[in-house]
Amino acid sequence: MSDVLVRFAGVSKSYDGRVQAVAGLDLEVMRGEVLTLLGPSGSGKTTTLMMLAGFEDPTAGRIELEGQRIDTLPPHKRGIGVVFQNYALFPHLSVAQNLAFPLSIRRMGRAEIADRVKRALEMVRLPGFGDRRPQQLSGGQQQRVALARALIFAPSLVLLDEPMGALDKQLREELQGEIRRIHAETGVTMVHVTHDQSEALTLSDRIAVFDQGRIQQIGTAEEVYERPANPFVAGFIGENNFVHATVLDATTLRLADGTLLACAPQDLPPGAAALASVRPERVVPDGALAGRVLEVVYLGDHCRLRLAFGGREDFGLRVARRDAAVPGAALRFSIPAEAVRVFAANSA
Ligand code: ADP
Ligand code: MG
Repeated sequence: MSDVLVRFAGVSKSYDGRVQAVAGLDLEVMRGEVLTLLGPSGSGKTTTLMMLAGFEDPTAGRIELEGQRIDTLPPHKRGIGVVFQNYALFPHLSVAQNLAFPLSIRRMGRAEIADRVKRALEMVRLPGFGDRRPQQLSGGQQQRVALARALIFAPSLVLLDEPMGALDKQLREELQGEIRRIHAETGVTMVHVTHDQSEALTLSDRIAVFDQGRIQQIGTAEEVYERPANPFVAGFIGENNFVHATVLDATTLRLADGTLLACAPQDLPPGAAALASVRPERVVPDGALAGRVLEVVYLGDHCRLRLAFGGREDFGLRVARRDAAVPGAALRFSIPAEAVRVFAANSA
């Protein structure tokens, strides 16, 4: 059995014949993983998911599941469970009838349906809720029913489109925990869509970062956070300061105000225009660099500073204590070379 469960090969989609909602997508989903498609609104995540589910047709390319071409099959022949962005439970059916629906269209017997419905409700911790109507449940409970309905025919693959989109923070964290537990218990492969980076970091084995219909980077949470492939990824996941610079040599940059900044070894030639990125939490107190404090914001467990530094007035960093900085005063700090990532200036 191959480790690859799903393969997109050269898949494109245009709704209007002009704009590419998804452009030349090559993507492999590994068996048993939770893969998150993360990106801003309109970047092509839902389109990608709906082509896999069978609710949208690709304009070009092919999609395979278990090595078999599926993009020509109707949705119900693909054996994929889907949790849609809006709950999409049938409002006139009870919870149990909603759950039974995917089984009865597969012509399963009554006794087995009843048994599976019972077990599915236990899996999402809603035993005894079978007779309720969807509108008699909270938003979080409705999403757990939708999850149970996607899992009830034991598919090898479940797709989730912004499943926590409509939930408040606490319910979101609860449902994230449920999804992690269900994944650990069943081993089902999941492809999950979100625009929320913390949700992606929490849930995923791998993250595919989308922008403008293309994957900008795919990797583990740590890879995309620590080693972003381009300025878009660096700016979209976590926070980053971007500073314009000129390359002096492989490990030295000169900033707009003449400051020299050591960076990790990089490939741009001397004289090249570069964009350096530095995460606020990687800046350390004391050292050879200096900036002027413009703003101090107290956030409880840390303070956030805004500095004039390197020709910018929006350089952000964190300090542990409020008395570490005074607005108007100079602040000395350093940045470890390995915390300075360098991109070609035209890659932004
Ligand atoms: P995301 O889920 O990342 O927000 P979508 O896949 O929904 O992005 O959308 C990608 C692009 O395709 C956007 O430009 C969007 O406006 C367009 N689009 C999505 N659905 C349709 C549709 N049914 N008809 C026309 N354009 C669409
Ligand atoms: Mg979407």
